[in-house]
Amino acid sequence: MQTHGAHAVVMGAGMGGLLAARVLAGHYESVTVLDRDALPSAPRPRRGVPQGPHGHTLLPRGGAALEAFFPGLLADLEGRGVPVIRDDADEIHFEPLGHHLVGTAPGPEAAIHVPSRPMLEHRVREHLAALSTVRILEQCTVDGLRAEIGRVAGVRATAPDGPFELDADLVVDALGRGSRTPVWLDELGFPRPAEDSVKVRGAYSSVQLRIDSGALTEKMVLISATADRPTGTAMFRHEGEMWDVSVFGVGGHAPPSATTDMVDFAAEFAPVHVVDALRSAEPLTEPNSRTFPTSRWRRYDRMRTFPDGLLVLGDGVCSLNPTYGQGMTVAAMQAEALAATLLDGPHDLPRRYFRAAAKPIGDTWHLAAVADRAILGGATGPLPWPIRALAPFGDTFFAAIAADPVLLDRFLQVFTLFAPPTRLLTPSTGLRVARASLRRRRHGRTVAPSSAEANEAPVPRRPTAAPAATEAGAGPPA
Ligand SMILES: Cc1cc2nc3c(=O)[nH]c(=O)nc-3n(C[C@H](O)[C@H](O)[C@H](O)COP(=O)(O)OP(=O)(O)OC[C@H]3O[C@@H](n4cnc5c(N)ncnc54)[C@H](O)[C@@H]3O)c2cc1C
Repeated sequence: MQTHGAHAVVMGAGMGGLLAARVLAGHYESVTVLDRDALPSAPRPRRGVPQGPHGHTLLPRGGAALEAFFPGLLADLEGRGVPVIRDDADEIHFEPLGHHLVGTAPGPEAAIHVPSRPMLEHRVREHLAALSTVRILEQCTVDGLRAEIGRVAGVRATAPDGPFELDADLVVDALGRGSRTPVWLDELGFPRPAEDSVKVRGAYSSVQLRIDSGALTEKMVLISATADRPTGTAMFRHEGEMWDVSVFGVGGHAPPSATTDMVDFAAEFAPVHVVDALRSAEPLTEPNSRTFPTSRWRRYDRMRTFPDGLLVLGDGVCSLNPTYGQGMTVAAMQAEALAATLLDGPHDLPRRYFRAAAKPIGDTWHLAAVADRAILGGATGPLPWPIRALAPFGDTFFAAIAADPVLLDRFLQVFTLFAPPTRLLTPSTGLRVARASLRRRRHGRTVAPSSAEANEAPVPRRPTAAPAATEAGAGPPA
């Protein structure tokens, strides 16, 4: 592998930072990761990732990317009691925009691993720490950048024993939603990036419960908000019998913040057997509430000038409506874009990286924005015309895929981020949706297509890009 410099610094040891460091380890002689938190030696929530106690799902596309970065990671997770969903459709209850989609088992190629966020981050961190050229410095708060004319040359930080500076050929801001790059650009005399945004006005309450393993066949229950009901739930069975249960509202509707009230709230739309299991569950934590005002995409890809030696990755570039569970997968896809960009050398790196990363970010952003618009209408704030034009067809589309396995398979490819949303904008998809809509009107209910139509072969779900291989000799930690 080509070496592009002596030292790279990654600011932030969240999901984006860990993956950025994994990529840079193949291209810089050494990599230092800085985080302000004390990083727990076991899977535990921590202050710097306040979203950690809220239910997280790793989309299969993200799982595939992580496995390519850290071979053996998924087996490691499974070996630690992380549930995996493969062929059994009873293990998922998936209800986007009010349509229960039956038969959404992902199959072995796109198995869904369901680690809690603390477990996933802990294992990724351990696998990264096993690389000989990477060091992770905890309890180090990044204070700012060290700049030379026209370029970033290092970072300033504070450790428990005082302030220090690190020189670096490349600095990556992976500070999540607290990213300071717009402010630093200002200070360095560069313009700030333009921002695309979608007003979600979301609020979450989450609690960890122990649910008896015989009580539910499901390992995942996802019920999105709809145009008529601005509320939903995301429930994940994680390690052992431990569940992360989140209820949420969008468009300014806040869920209650006490466990029994949260269950009553879920009872308004969740299946009865799920609510019964929640009522007999044992609370393991106090509920935790948060708000999510806006999805934001900082358009670094559109900037004409940007300092050399600095990149941004993860939520600092794009933070998405969390109800769709895409953030960690998009961070992984940005890391893939970084890996692909570095293969062509370090010249003009920020411009090439931000443009490469804008492709997977854009695909995900548009998917989420169409759903947000379908649910929230004009309350999302101004959005470009393709999103406004597609959103009104959301209900027709989901009614069609609920009845048509071919459409369902195409949708799942896109929803799990294995395929771009444009995969759905084909004449054949349009025709199937129109036929389903006609059948629905004729029969007054959803009707499956004829067997000849339904038998069209599904496309296997798999990653579209292969990330960089693991450093030779660095296997998974024990
Ligand atoms: C309620 C909620 C639910 C979500 N659910 C899902 C889901 O189901 N699936 C999914 O894929 N995504 C989900 N997400 C999104 C996901 O959490 C993020 O996309 C992902 O964590 C982004 O990674 P990141 O590295 O950019 O930021 P983070 O993971 O937030 O990491 C930022 C890191 O920077 C550190 N840091 C911050 N400031 C400093 C400083 N000054 N100095 C040093 N270190 C600092 C923090 O300690 C932290 O470790 C959810 C988000 C929310 C809010």
